[in-house]
Amino acid sequence: MTVYKDGMKIRSLLILLLSILTSGFTFAQQTPQSLADAELPSLLTIYKDIHSHPELSGHEERTSAIVAKELRAAGCEVTDHLGKYPRPEFKGYGVVGLMKNGAGPTVLVRTDMDALPVEEQTGLPYASAVTTKNDKGDEVHVMHACGHDAHMSIFVGVVRSLAKLKDQWRGTIVFVGQPAEEALGGARALLNDGLYTRFPKPDFALGFHDNAQMQTGHIGVTEGYTYANVDSVDVTVRGVGGHGAYPHKTKDPIVLSAEMINAWQTIASRENNPIDPIVITVGSIHGGTKHNIIPDEVKMQLTVRTYKADVRDHVLAAIDRIAQGCAAAAGIPADRAPIVNVLKDEFTPATYNNPELTKRLVAVWKKSLGADNVEATDPTMGGEDFSEYSLPDHSIPACDFHIGAVDPAKVAESKKTGVPLPSLHSSKFAPVPEPTIRLGIIGMTTAVLELMKK
Ligand SMILES: [Zn+2]
Ligand SMILES: [Zn+2]
Repeated sequence: MTVYKDGMKIRSLLILLLSILTSGFTFAQQTPQSLADAELPSLLTIYKDIHSHPELSGHEERTSAIVAKELRAAGCEVTDHLGKYPRPEFKGYGVVGLMKNGAGPTVLVRTDMDALPVEEQTGLPYASAVTTKNDKGDEVHVMHACGHDAHMSIFVGVVRSLAKLKDQWRGTIVFVGQPAEEALGGARALLNDGLYTRFPKPDFALGFHDNAQMQTGHIGVTEGYTYANVDSVDVTVRGVGGHGAYPHKTKDPIVLSAEMINAWQTIASRENNPIDPIVITVGSIHGGTKHNIIPDEVKMQLTVRTYKADVRDHVLAAIDRIAQGCAAAAGIPADRAPIVNVLKDEFTPATYNNPELTKRLVAVWKKSLGADNVEATDPTMGGEDFSEYSLPDHSIPACDFHIGAVDPAKVAESKKTGVPLPSLHSSKFAPVPEPTIRLGIIGMTTAVLELMKK
């Protein structure tokens, strides 16, 4: 025990001596790395507190108060309770903190804050035991199963670091605590509440997400499209119901729905340029009440994923065209034609990482983290409303990058055994907090310094 302690002391002294020598006999300047190390213990306390007190989308009251308090403590001008939603049950818990440092560029840095209706099964000592009522009134468990708790801890670390590094940058940083990312309406709710009119409009927007498949110590980023356009479509297929034994006296909406579902898949295989990815998933189908009754209608819910705007327009139009055509072919009367409703309020645009900005940040990370620790990650057809900050025409250059959150030994084991790692939203997912938070702070702080350097 004593030997170990003495050994540690000698090692610490040697490290100190070495750092004095290498800094040319002056005490080393604060760096994103040294600040991340210094802040880590207090950020872990914040992390565990937020992890064990998760709140659902649109209900981030306690969480947003912590974010607002930390922004104020670091010297930001803070506005809280921001966000205007189309749905009345969501309250505005958005937070904006302005950190001003003279004339210069404006950079937006975003964290999300909400959790998910998942029962935590990580077995961690600080696991969530929270339950609440969802907006339908059902009792649900709540968990930070997407790692937004780690995002907020990183965010607070970045806020504190940049407050201490003001001699290295100039301009204005717009720190955004975004609610309701999981409901994919939070970013738009902030824009509806004047994010770009009441506060400075950014020259660049930066976001990040922990990655449940990537090892800690690694940053990953995709150049160009990284997340998809997300559209929700409700389809009501109307027929003429009757007895199941006399189909000739009915127009069966169940057989018709089956035809539509298969025909929609030919949009991807026959109508679309194969190098433009699209996904059409029928996630919900409900019709009928009993074995021997042909119902009057069937209701379906679709999620549609695309990247490019023109591809999106084509796919949405094709879904409607095919539905109408199948109904006509089945002899459905015109007044019982299918109703295809694209839910405009629920649309989330594709996230496009500006190639020039992404290249610039990759160069910075390769320098600060080592070239082997920066990965080119594959794009996905998932959705992320960070896209809203770059505006529909991508006119504000934006980059949303990944922070590795998994023990490297577990990544290696999963590759060896083929047993998949718990994904984001899994009841068993939790980032390894220390290295994930540390790397997130360094990654985001160095990115901001690059864009705002003196
Ligand atoms: Zn999520
Ligand atoms: Zn998330």
